[in-house]
Amino acid sequence: MSISVRCSSCGKSMRVPDEAAGRSIRCRFCHQPFTARADGSAGGSRVSLPIIVAGAVFVIGLIAVILRLVGVW
Ligand SMILES: [Zn+2]
Repeated sequence: MSISVRCSSCGKSMRVPDEAAGRSIRCRFCHQPFTARADGSAGGSRVSLPIIVAGAVFVIGLIAVILRLVGVW
């Protein structure tokens, strides 16, 4: 996965690996270091989606265990 970031020095957009988010990277155009921040305002969704999926898997597993204990399955 990669994210789109914008250089704070020259303003150009580029794609960097997901792992670079929040870290200081060097612009490939002007070679100035800047902190990689994802373009746009949806910065939180990238983090919360796996948590929602993990929560859903946990709840489904919990329901399956309960149903098994009750004897429905
Ligand atoms: Zn730049």
